[in-house]
Amino acid sequence: MNITRRGFLKLSGAAFAAGALSDFVGQSTALAAEPLEWRLADVKETPSICCYCAVGCGSICSVKDGELINMEGDPDHPVNRGSLCSKGSAQFQLRNVYDPESGDLILNPYRQTKVRYRAAGASEFEDKDWDWAITEIAKRVKKTRDESFETKDSNGVTVNRTEAIGFLGGAGLDNEECYLVQKLARAVGVTYIEHQARI
Ligand code: SF4
Repeated sequence: MNITRRGFLKLSGAAFAAGALSDFVGQSTALAAEPLEWRLADVKETPSICCYCAVGCGSICSVKDGELINMEGDPDHPVNRGSLCSKGSAQFQLRNVYDPESGDLILNPYRQTKVRYRAAGASEFEDKDWDWAITEIAKRVKKTRDESFETKDSNGVTVNRTEAIGFLGGAGLDNEECYLVQKLARAVGVTYIEHQARI
C-alpha cells in the first residue's frame, strides 16, 4: 500500500486521538469507581513557626481528632512562602513518627520532655523537674560568679568581670532573645559570649 506523507500524518493523528480518548475514559471510570480520600480533609489548620533557627519560617500544623497528622510550609508566610529547609521539613517528627513495623502514627519515643540531669561523676542521667533545674542553674551561676568575680585586673584596671562562666547561644535565638540574653550575661560580668553558628 502506498501512503503519502499527508496520509501518514492523518493516520497518526487519528491513532493518537483514539489512544488519548481511551486513556481519558479509563481514568474517568477509575475516578468514578474509587473516590479519592483526601488526607487533609476535615483537619484544623494552625499556623506555627519552625523551632529550629531564627530564620523563623512559617508552617501549618494540621490536626485531626486531636492528633497532629501533617506539617508543611505556610505559603502565605512572608519569610519562606511555603518552602522549608531539610530540618524544617522534618519538624513533624519532633512529635510523631511512623512505626516502621505497623505503619501507624505514634508519638516519637525519643522525644525528650523532661529535664535530664547527670551529676558530676555519675554515669547515669536522672529525671528532674523544671523548677529544680532553673533554681539549680541560678544557684550555680551565683556561686561561681561570687567566687570568681574580679573588680580589677593584674594591672589595676577596673574590669568587673568573671572569667569562670561562658555563654553559648544557639541558632534558635532571634534578635530580641539574643539582645536580652547578652544583656543578662554582661550584667553578670560574663566576658566569654559566643554563638554556635560561629563555631
Ligand atoms: S531550620 Fe530551616 S525551615 Fe526552620 S526556620 Fe530555619 S531555615 Fe526555616
